[in-house]
Formats: sequence, structure tokens, C-alpha cells
Amino acid sequence: MSKTLRVSEKWYRRALWVVAFFFANFLIGLGGAVVGDLPQVEKQLTLDQFVDQTEAEPIKQQMKVAQAKLAAADSELDQARLKYLQAQSDTQAEQENFNNWVTTRNSTQDPEQDASLKARTAALEALQAIERRALQEMQNQQQIALDASQGVRNSEKELKALEDVARVGYEDSLNSQELRVFAYRLALTLPLLLLAAWLLIKKRHSTYWPFVWGFGFFAIFAFFVELVPYLPSYGGYVRQIVGIVLTVVLGRYAILGMNRYLAKQREVEATPEHERRQALDYDLALGRVAKSICPGCERPVNMQDASIDFCPHCGIGLHDHCTACNTRKSCFSRYCHSCGAGKDVKVA
Ligand SMILES: [Zn+2]
Ligand SMILES: [Zn+2]
Repeated sequence: MSKTLRVSEKWYRRALWVVAFFFANFLIGLGGAVVGDLPQVEKQLTLDQFVDQTEAEPIKQQMKVAQAKLAAADSELDQARLKYLQAQSDTQAEQENFNNWVTTRNSTQDPEQDASLKARTAALEALQAIERRALQEMQNQQQIALDASQGVRNSEKELKALEDVARVGYEDSLNSQELRVFAYRLALTLPLLLLAAWLLIKKRHSTYWPFVWGFGFFAIFAFFVELVPYLPSYGGYVRQIVGIVLTVVLGRYAILGMNRYLAKQREVEATPEHERRQALDYDLALGRVAKSICPGCERPVNMQDASIDFCPHCGIGLHDHCTACNTRKSCFSRYCHSCGAGKDVKVA
């Protein structure tokens, strides 16, 4: 709510808000640059750092050997499989040849071909033997590959067991690191926050208020960006508790502020009305009159009604008559709008 009615003053105020905004913006930029240049205070933790390396190292070596064996066995197995398939197709081709030949032989019934039959049978059997050997070789390689992959799996299981033991310590360290990082950030931002709170409470109406507000914005930004995301969670407890504490503190401040305002208002309303009128800020009073609000008690009053000269709620004078020309005018204007006489002019 703008308290002033002077046009230039309004614009000056707006310009000063822009100053406050830029001041906050540059402070935030500077803060970001400083935080960015700070050395990394905590190193990245990994689960591996918490595993007992004297136990883990031999297992890792075993695993490496088993993995190499597995890779070798796999490529050997591929070769063996290929050879077996080749032998299989060789045997099949020869078998077909042989069958054809036997069919032809039966139809011709040539006894001279008995020797040839023996030779062909021998050749086919030789190929079948090669195929069997290739199959045997392939099965051997399959066994080797299986053994190697089981070795890898066993090593993985052993490593996993070691990691499970290490996980407790790892998570503890992670939690305390989280807490330390939060403490560093709190140590950086808390003084800023306290200073900003003090400035906003005590100095927000001072001549240099744009800087006070700019600093306040900066502190709020620092709180929500540099601090809140680093609040340790502990399953949401910490965040909720911090939220409750903040709400209680701010709520208490608001309740006390309201009570102070009401007490002051009651005190003011108890004083004589001309004293109250004198104590009111000129621009503030005119602004309230323009909004049909009693400048004394801030309750709504119909200012257009010519019969209302006093506030029906607090009794403060709203309209009187010029001492020089007797025109009805606002009690709060300094000069008569009809004759221009000042307030204290008495009729001669
Ligand atoms: Zn009133
Ligand atoms: Zn007058």
C-alpha cells in the first residue's frame, strides 16, 4: 500500500524498489561466485572405500582371472561350434551321396562295385568320426565356459557379502557428511539471516530502506537455495520440525505485532480527537479518506454523506467548517479549498 499521494514521490519509491532488487541481485551473484570458488571441503564417498580391501583384493583377483577364462572359453566355444556345424554338414552331404550311389548300384547290380561300396562306407564313417570328435570338443568347451561363469558368479557373491558388511559404515559416514555439509552452510548463511532479520525489523523504514530490503531478499534467497536443499532429512523429521519451528516463530511475531497494533490503536483512541488528528501523517490520512476509511480507527465510513462530520466508531472529526468562510471541508486538509485560508485563521 502506497502511503504517499505525491506523484513524484510515488515514482521515486518505485525506482528505489528497483534499486533494492538490483542490490539483491548483485549480492546473490557475488554470493554464488564466492561459494563456487570455495574449495571442495568434502570428498565424494564410495561404498568401495568401506570394503575390507585385504579380503576384497584376492577375490577381485580371482574374479579377474575367472572373467579372462570365461572370455577365452567363449571364443573357443564359438570356434568349436563352427567346426562341429561344418563336420555335420560334411557328413550329411556324404550320406546323401552314399544313399544315391547305393540306389544306383541296386538298379545296376554290378558285382565289381563291392570294393567301391567298402571304400565309400569307410569314407562316410571317417566323416562321422570327425563329427563326433567335433561334438565332443564343443561339449568340452561348453563345460569350461560354464565353470568359468560359475567362478565369476561366486566371486561376485563373495564381494557382495563384503559390501553388505561395509554398507552400514558407509551409510553412517554418508549421514555425518551430510550433517557436516549442512553445518558449513548454516555457518555461512545463519549470520546473514540473523543480520537480515534484525535489519528488516529495526531499519526497514530508515532512509536507506532499499538496501535493507535488498539485503533481506538476498538472505531469503540464500536460505532457500544454499541452506534448505542441504537440510538433513532423517526420514523427513528434520524438515518438518524446522518447518514447525519457523512457522511458530513467524506466527508468534505476527500475533505479537497484531496485539501491539491493537493496544496502540486503543491507546490512541482514548486520547482527545484533535490530538489524534494532529498525530496522524498528512498523506496517510488523505489516502484513507480517499478510500472511505476513517483515518483514526481504519474502519469504513461513508465520506460522501454530508451529514457525517465525525467517525461513528472512534469519534475523530472528519469534516468541519472553515473559520474564515464557513465552507464545509475535510478536517485533514491544511487549507480551505474555497478561500485558501489556513487552519488556524480566526474570523476577525
Ligand atoms: Zn474512526
Ligand atoms: Zn474558507
